[in-house]
Amino acid sequence: MSIIISKRLQSMTYSKTLLMAKKARYLNSLGVDVINLSVGEPDFFPFPSILNAAKQAIDSGHHYYTPVSGYKDLRKAISLKFNRDNKLNYNIQQIVVSNGCKQAIINIFLSILNSTDEVIIPSPYWISYYEMVKLCNAKPVIVDTDIDNNFKITPKLLKKAITNKTKAFIFSSPCNPTGSIYTKQELFNLAQVLSQYPNILIISDEIYEHINYTNTCITSIASFDNVYNQTVTLNGLSKSFAMTGWRVGYIGAPLWLAKACEKIQGQTTSGINAIAQCAAIEALRILPSKLSNIIKILKKKRNLTFNLFSNIKGFNINKPLGAFYMFIEISFFIGKKFNDFVIHDADDLAMLILEKTHVVTVGGVSFGNSKYLRISYSVSEKNIYAAFDRINKFLKKIN
Ligand code: PMP
Repeated sequence: MSIIISKRLQSMTYSKTLLMAKKARYLNSLGVDVINLSVGEPDFFPFPSILNAAKQAIDSGHHYYTPVSGYKDLRKAISLKFNRDNKLNYNIQQIVVSNGCKQAIINIFLSILNSTDEVIIPSPYWISYYEMVKLCNAKPVIVDTDIDNNFKITPKLLKKAITNKTKAFIFSSPCNPTGSIYTKQELFNLAQVLSQYPNILIISDEIYEHINYTNTCITSIASFDNVYNQTVTLNGLSKSFAMTGWRVGYIGAPLWLAKACEKIQGQTTSGINAIAQCAAIEALRILPSKLSNIIKILKKKRNLTFNLFSNIKGFNINKPLGAFYMFIEISFFIGKKFNDFVIHDADDLAMLILEKTHVVTVGGVSFGNSKYLRISYSVSEKNIYAAFDRINKFLKKIN
């Protein structure tokens, strides 16, 4: 075989979270009692009205190609949602529905990036931002933040990272993997900086919007007038509606960008699954207040996980305000040994924990920080207790 994989793909790494999830499934299939704290999805069920809408879509004949940017009714529902929840005005021409936020992000990067361009990404970051920028032959510019500033980029750090090659700035709030949420004031301050650079596209990933324990709605950076025209707002049904498998993501964007994303999607995947779109129309009608029970349950799990895991010697955690992850600082273990095995970074520790306790976590290397471990607490309380017990006992053997 002499066909060689492209350089573009050779330099891409596999998604660590998906790899760990695969490993967990494999161990499970062998009958091992695995506790999976690597999951990036809620552990509840979508609302019955959403499921019924999908069933009706099948029965009423939604079997054919859909408009590339999504059904008009769905884009209307998204436009209303943006207005209702985010104080954002996007008309339906400014909205494109994609196969999850993942496709929405690659559409955006493919639309704007040339090979000398730079994209500023605050670290820790969601793994795929970095890889997608590289896939477009552009350069990710990483700005480190840490646990002491709640993993948030400051206007000063942002300004320092901007060059004449900067094409975009991407961030998530609530953040995967840290659970941090930017306050309105913090976003206002970032917007003040970015508004001085109207050629920089702001990509605001709000997919965890409703998984927020602060009792105040998140602020969309696009709601500040001075950056609205240079911002694309990303959202989707995966996290808030527990619909990761339905693959519905969407953007509200400046018209030129929405058109560009539609053009790319038209030549790659076309409009997304018809049935999922009908379900999405129903999901977006549901008021955020209807999610309060689910958020209450997740908050209880967050508190439980925080109280237990903070007691593990060598684990340093800040209490996240949103999403369902904790990003745990584990530098205490770096350089230490289990038997003859030296722990060089958090990925080594995650692998040891998996092998010795059958608890799946994700090392922070691919989130941009090798001294942190990500866990997801979107699992049963029973599994949170059991995972704590196993990890705590095992880590005492490391010296
Ligand atoms: N953004 C962030 C921050 C995420 O954590 C994820 C999923 N883990 C996505 C985007 C992609 O979500 P989806 O493609 O399921 O909409």
